[in-house]
Amino acid sequence: MKASEFLELISTVNKLDHHQRSLLATTLTELSDEPKVSELIETAFDIKGICPHCSNTESYRHGLSSGLQRYRCKACKKTFNALTKTPLAHLRYKSKWLEYLNAITESSTVRKAASDLNVHRNTTFRWRHRFLTWIKQDRATALHGITEADETYLLESYKGSRKLERKPRKRGGSASKRGISNEQVCILIARDRSKQTVDFVTGYGAITKKLLTEHLKPILDPDALLVSDSNPTYNAFCHSEGISHEVVNISQGQRVIKGAYHVQNVNAYHSRFKTWLGRFHGVATKYLPNYLGWCRVMDEFQNLTPEMLLNSALGDFQHLTVT
Ligand SMILES: [Zn+2]
Repeated sequence: MKASEFLELISTVNKLDHHQRSLLATTLTELSDEPKVSELIETAFDIKGICPHCSNTESYRHGLSSGLQRYRCKACKKTFNALTKTPLAHLRYKSKWLEYLNAITESSTVRKAASDLNVHRNTTFRWRHRFLTWIKQDRATALHGITEADETYLLESYKGSRKLERKPRKRGGSASKRGISNEQVCILIARDRSKQTVDFVTGYGAITKKLLTEHLKPILDPDALLVSDSNPTYNAFCHSEGISHEVVNISQGQRVIKGAYHVQNVNAYHSRFKTWLGRFHGVATKYLPNYLGWCRVMDEFQNLTPEMLLNSALGDFQHLTVT
């Protein structure tokens, strides 16, 4: 806009009534982040620069859509933009995404974020799980040295589900069976001494050797020494996979053995996760991996910013650097 036009625009502001001024203020606030968000999205895309349909690297510009550059692939001829085939495709209100991701860094509830951002809570609920889809995958691929592992259990929850396969239980209720049953969801956590953490929802019921092999084996570096409690499943797993293993017999009052081996870090992590999860008043079991990823990224990055989270949500993890 030319300077003279802009001065003319400013001069008309005086003529606005109270309602119009507040509408203008809201519009300006909502506009403010949109170019920045688009720029972050385009930059994350430029790094990859491939057609999301066929992975070809050659495309040409083909107009704009939803404020983003549109491309047409030279190989498959399909059109796409930087969000095509990402979990953020077709989400609206880009101008509010950074503000929402700031709410993620504050562990905001769906209701509070909706109220702060002036959007419907269905929107903040949808955003939560879309943004976390790829963020949760951004985890360590190898744990090194002394690595603690332990499992914890949560009662399954059908929160938000239309179909309930059992009688409703009071929120936060107790299981109808004693011990670990198929009503409990197993969460396996492993953490090394550099605080790299991996989490897995292994399914219903107690942990088994097969599940440990499936989840832990691929991420344990050959130099890893696994520390667990006296659950014989860990011993059987380590024995058959040739992994060094130390056992802390917690039920017999052991805390630390040989002056170095304990499972206190992983148990403290369980405890922090469950306390943090409490603010959401019960979460659906199917979304548990998202919450684990959310908690992990908060644990790992002390100076987490909305921009870092947006890059991670777009599958570009290189912007996250350990603090
Ligand atoms: Zn293509």
